[in-house]
Amino acid sequence: MRIIVTVKQVPNTNEVRWDRSRGTLQREGVDSIINPEDKNALEAAIKLKEQHGAEVVVISMGPPQAKKALREVYALGADRAILVSDRAFAGADTLATSYVLSESIRKIGDFDLIFSGRQAIDGDTAQVGPQIAGFLDIPQITYVKDLKIENKSVKVQKETDFGYQWLEAKTPVLLTFIKEANDPGYPTLRGIFDSFERNIEVFSNTELQLEESRLGLDGSPTKVKKVFKPAPKGKGEIVEEGTARDMTCKIVDYIKEKNVIR
Ligand SMILES: Cc1cc2nc3c(=O)[nH]c(=O)nc-3n(C[C@H](O)[C@H](O)[C@H](O)COP(=O)(O)OP(=O)(O)OC[C@H]3O[C@@H](n4cnc5c(N)ncnc54)[C@H](O)[C@@H]3O)c2cc1C
Repeated sequence: MRIIVTVKQVPNTNEVRWDRSRGTLQREGVDSIINPEDKNALEAAIKLKEQHGAEVVVISMGPPQAKKALREVYALGADRAILVSDRAFAGADTLATSYVLSESIRKIGDFDLIFSGRQAIDGDTAQVGPQIAGFLDIPQITYVKDLKIENKSVKVQKETDFGYQWLEAKTPVLLTFIKEANDPGYPTLRGIFDSFERNIEVFSNTELQLEESRLGLDGSPTKVKKVFKPAPKGKGEIVEEGTARDMTCKIVDYIKEKNVIR
């Protein structure tokens, strides 16, 4: 079984500050980390490898600095790590990113499963996983909390707004994982040392031979018009007087007044 895990290196958004004078995010000197839910996706792949045997291939599109994230995935138990990197890919929106990642996956060859994070903490669109499945014309299940492998199919517990669903799909299938799926492990000291001996393959457009008009800014229909910090919300009103019933009635009257319910 071959499992491909997509991993994005992201700025640690807890450390990103707002530059008031320029109206932009201050990323300088901010640490880069593996996108948290991609660690859940990797952990799920490593667990399957332990239970059933599998080759875990991690793929990341980004600048050369993203190699740091790929060293970490080796230390966490990945078998093969590929950086997809070329100046022609710079400025890619989610569509161009997903296109390049899906073509890179085609180049890797046969696979049974693709695991992604639900969303990245910087872009936050949650589009890349589903778009990769679209380009590869395979089924997808998003918001995965748990899974079981049975022959050539997966049974998956998916989070919804109302609870959980169990769904079944034939492989190959793409799954996107949420943070509740598992507790990602930590690299061992030995794993960290060994990761520096491992080869990180690089796919540039010389290998992929993709049409330039579908890459980078040219291949990106999304245009960012403005980036701004939303105005802080008001303090809100706290209802604390009377019995639980009095307080509930007051809240119901309030939301009726606002026409949220009748
Ligand atoms: C006009 C425009 C220009 C942009 N230019 C750049 C740029 O020059 N450089 C830049 O870094 N970003 C750029 N971006 C942002 C970039 O498009 C997104 O970061 C990227 O497409 C992923 O989208 P997301 O962060 O919303 O990921 P999501 O869709 O929220 O991510 C979901 C999952 O997909 C996978 N995934 C997402 N991105 C990658 C990746 N790169 N490699 C492997 N797996 C991935 C991960 O598993 C992740 O958990 C640009 C965006 C726009 C709109």
